[in-house]
Amino acid sequence: MLPVIVAHGGAGYILPDREASAIAGVREAVLHGYSILQRGGTALDAVEETVVLLENNPKFNAGCGSVLNELGEVEMDAIIMDGKTLNSGAVSAIRRIANPIKLSRLVMEKTSHLCLTDQGASRFAKEMGIPEVPEESLITEYSRMRWQKLKESGLDPVETQMGKTGTVGAVAIDSEGNIASATSTGGMLNKMVGRVGDTPCIGCGAYADNQVGAVSPTGHGEAIMKVTLSRLILFHMEQGKSPKEAADAALGYMYERVQGLAGVVVVDKTGDWSARFNSRQMSWAAAKNNQLHYGIYKDQINTEPIPKT
Ligand code: ASP
Repeated sequence: MLPVIVAHGGAGYILPDREASAIAGVREAVLHGYSILQRGGTALDAVEETVVLLENNPKFNAGCGSVLNELGEVEMDAIIMDGKTLNSGAVSAIRRIANPIKLSRLVMEKTSHLCLTDQGASRFAKEMGIPEVPEESLITEYSRMRWQKLKESGLDPVETQMGKTGTVGAVAIDSEGNIASATSTGGMLNKMVGRVGDTPCIGCGAYADNQVGAVSPTGHGEAIMKVTLSRLILFHMEQGKSPKEAADAALGYMYERVQGLAGVVVVDKTGDWSARFNSRQMSWAAAKNNQLHYGIYKDQINTEPIPKT
């Protein structure tokens, strides 16, 4: 099986002066994930490591760089799913850790639960030896500025920013044909304290099944949840649609039913992949067969060979 990885850095409106860094970030992360797959690594390790890189990149809304809640605090959601076993692990409203995706993997592997939240998730992180980091280390000047601006505007946070955010995620298939998905986010800017978005909810913020494929979405979480977007895309693939057709059908349905704006990266069990969105933009990158593909605007696909290392 030819390994494949596709990653995104969030759907929505990317300000012109942030386009280059968004593309650079997803390219770098996908190349890192691809190198793991090329060395015979698992899809699970590849998606986790790809998302770790994006969480550590302050340009994205995950880990350091997360958007702030209504009180100006960081609360993050993340999920990982293993398509071989359908095991999954997630954390929601987690505070003061650098890499929520790593904690999600531990929830999957070390507990019999699928999702831990808030204080329970923090307690579990401590038990697992994950260091607590100062909240300030997760907050950038940019996220503080956006929080302040929206607060002063008095506008409804959800209405004003449907899809205007920068969540991260990845899907992959490895040389053994195992498939995985991972997503991580700071959520929606100025969200209510305790708001849980689509990301940590299985079938919404991720899905992976070796028998079909995998999805990692980004965008308006409430809309994604209303149509269980990730599982809906897999359903369409089960009915014979390609990743691109399935993504377009599901995004179209979500828009029609609940006016949701979102984007997805998808891979199927044959290694066919797609990156689709109905928001204005989504930064994404994919690697397959030693070729790197990437884009940020609709129907834009740049392709270049991946240099041998
Ligand atoms: N889906 C995320 C959420 O609603 C936000 C995003 O993808 O930008 O929490």
